[in-house]
Amino acid sequence: MNIEVQCMTNKTPITVTKPCLPPLDEFVPYLQQIWDNKWLTNNGPMHQQLEQELANYLGVKHISLFSNGTLALISALQALNITGEVITTPFSFVATTHSLWWNKITPVFVDIEPEYLNLDPDKIEAAITPRTTAILPVHVYGNPCQMDKIQQIAGKHGLKVIYDAAHAFGVKENGVSVLNYGDLSVLSFHATKVFSTIEGGAIICHSEEMKHHIDNLKNFGFRDETIVEEPGINAKLNELQAAYGLLQMKYIDGFISKRKLITKLYRNLLKGISGIRFLNDKVDISYSYSYFPILIDEESYGKSRDELYEKLRKNNIFARRYFYPLISNFEPYSKLLTAAPQNLPVATKASLQVLCLPIYVDLNEVDVYRICSIVKNIL
Ligand SMILES: *Cc1c(COP(=O)(O)O)cnc(C)c1O
Repeated sequence: MNIEVQCMTNKTPITVTKPCLPPLDEFVPYLQQIWDNKWLTNNGPMHQQLEQELANYLGVKHISLFSNGTLALISALQALNITGEVITTPFSFVATTHSLWWNKITPVFVDIEPEYLNLDPDKIEAAITPRTTAILPVHVYGNPCQMDKIQQIAGKHGLKVIYDAAHAFGVKENGVSVLNYGDLSVLSFHATKVFSTIEGGAIICHSEEMKHHIDNLKNFGFRDETIVEEPGINAKLNELQAAYGLLQMKYIDGFISKRKLITKLYRNLLKGISGIRFLNDKVDISYSYSYFPILIDEESYGKSRDELYEKLRKNNIFARRYFYPLISNFEPYSKLLTAAPQNLPVATKASLQVLCLPIYVDLNEVDVYRICSIVKNIL
């Protein structure tokens, strides 16, 4: 399959990410099917098929589709009755912490480790109090957290573990999906993610019972026609979105291979530049290359991250400072004791050094060369 031809190429500007739309003519038969079915939402045939295909593809037992990743996170916390305090990372997209706020849970920020910028397991125990009920780590950029260590701590203290796996679609460690770890994992299928249903998300769980519970939660709490067990929300994925997802599934392996090629090219072109570091692959992990972050050490690079960011902007290249500011520095959370920068030195430093360079399926080689030459020549 020739992805270059399939995807529309818009040369300017170059943004950090662009969705790769599947061919329109291939979407038409799906629409015809939906029109024939006259079933638009509420666990329709497309929805059921997508759950099946995703479970097979990802290598997980049970998956419940959601209308977006944020509602999936909020519902995952509900499904496990999480209350009190939850330990989480400040180095993520703001929705991670917002999901706690919507459940009236107090976020407790713990610092990240410097190698992959994920929650630092060695700092978790010191943050546990009698009110702690769960840990909410993020597989940032799709690099798996230290899941064995986190599970060990959770087991010892009787805590639940919910992974925000929004960046970890298809990521496997020794052939096993990272989504099989923890009590629940949450995916996002937003248009900017590796796999998309335009807006969408999912919860991965490990038992039939839990899947039923989660499926009820996203449908107002209905167990059957006459019984509402709990105050659920409306977070259902509709048939058009499911159909879009089914069509994406046909292309997903090609999408990920293309992302891998772009990543390799970036690494080749940027290696050896003093003051530029990128996160390396581990041999036993298969990645989906959702982001290409670099870390800029101002002292040895000679310019700051923000100077490079501005220079790229002037060239119509819109890299993004993911994640800056830290979630803990946003207004709703900055007054929390654990939000203090002294509590989060590694995350604070990373947020000032990180820059995610553009990566999307139809980003062409010439543009990658151009981006890298700007990174080199700014010196
Ligand atoms: C995208 C994202 C979310 C939110 O997902 P939506 O589908 O946009 O609601 C949550 N957490 C992380 C880490 C994300 O990147």
